[in-house]
Amino acid sequence: MYTPIVKDLVLVGGGHSHVIVLKMLGMRPIPGVRITLITDASDTPYSGMLPGHIAGFYSRDECHIDLRSLANFAQAQLYIDRVVGLDLSNNKVICANRPPVSFDLLSLDIGSTPATISVPGAAEYAIPAKPVAQLLTYWEKVTENFAQNPQQVIKIAIVGGGVGGVELALSMQANLQGIISQRVGSRGAGEQGVEEQGTGSREQGARSKGAGSREQGSREQVSREQGSREQGAGAREQGAGSKGAGSREQGSREKKIIRICKSIYFNVIPN
Ligand SMILES: Cc1cc2nc3c(=O)[nH]c(=O)nc-3n(C[C@H](O)[C@H](O)[C@H](O)COP(=O)(O)OP(=O)(O)OC[C@H]3O[C@@H](n4cnc5c(N)ncnc54)[C@H](O)[C@@H]3O)c2cc1C
Repeated sequence: MYTPIVKDLVLVGGGHSHVIVLKMLGMRPIPGVRITLITDASDTPYSGMLPGHIAGFYSRDECHIDLRSLANFAQAQLYIDRVVGLDLSNNKVICANRPPVSFDLLSLDIGSTPATISVPGAAEYAIPAKPVAQLLTYWEKVTENFAQNPQQVIKIAIVGGGVGGVELALSMQANLQGIISQRVGSRGAGEQGVEEQGTGSREQGARSKGAGSREQGSREQVSREQGSREQGAGAREQGAGSKGAGSREQGSREKKIIRICKSIYFNVIPN
């Protein structure tokens, strides 16, 4: 049955908040409300898994939520664009690349960005944790450079000692330590092994070597997010077997755990 559109709800920003809004609206559609999401990227990081990605436990895709399929689930229109202004006299959102978007109800949630302008030196020397995409681009460069030359001394200062800062510090340490361990391990296998080690093989090394703290950290990360230490540790241990025939199975187990993590995260929001 056709239901006429009586209200236009526009969500600006495809981060955590609107991801949950979309999920809820997908589960309980409101007849007559047309939903439009305007955001500047087609996926968004799930920040609960972000430290695990920084540590090298999860790939980028594994810790990102695909906004296209979520919008589809919520029967929402998705415009990938940057919002540059609001015309409140005419109820329109001004976008960088597309015509203005009309709204009856507007929700703005474009997240936070650390104030690099007001802190002297921050713009030149610091890498803000948000936007996350930018942080990940820099971190990839750091790890790639370090993998090329693991003898170099890297000093990373984290500004902000809250939970996020502590998580990032531990994750960065775990990743760099993993690169060193892998380097030491591959020496035994001959110089060719060192040459062949790209960044891609690091992830493989992290899983197969069980490099002490990395594996342990991974277990804790998973079990913490699952809310069940035993379940997470058990599943991880099972998945931490040797490569070869077992690795596909291990991969699918890990993906299942990640899906559980994501669904648990969403399910904590009260209906
Ligand atoms: C390392 C780290 C770990 C964290 N761990 C956790 C955790 O475990 N649990 C937890 O609850 N929180 C965690 N957080 C905090 C969490 O990321 C934030 O609280 C949450 O992302 C805020 O959601 P939001 O929707 O307000 O903004 P965001 O998630 O930042 O989303 C903002 C969105 O708006 C988009 N956007 C920005 N500007 C524009 C524009 N002009 N036009 C269009 N779109 C735009 C962005 O691309 C983004 O998609 C962590 C944060 C960090 C940095």
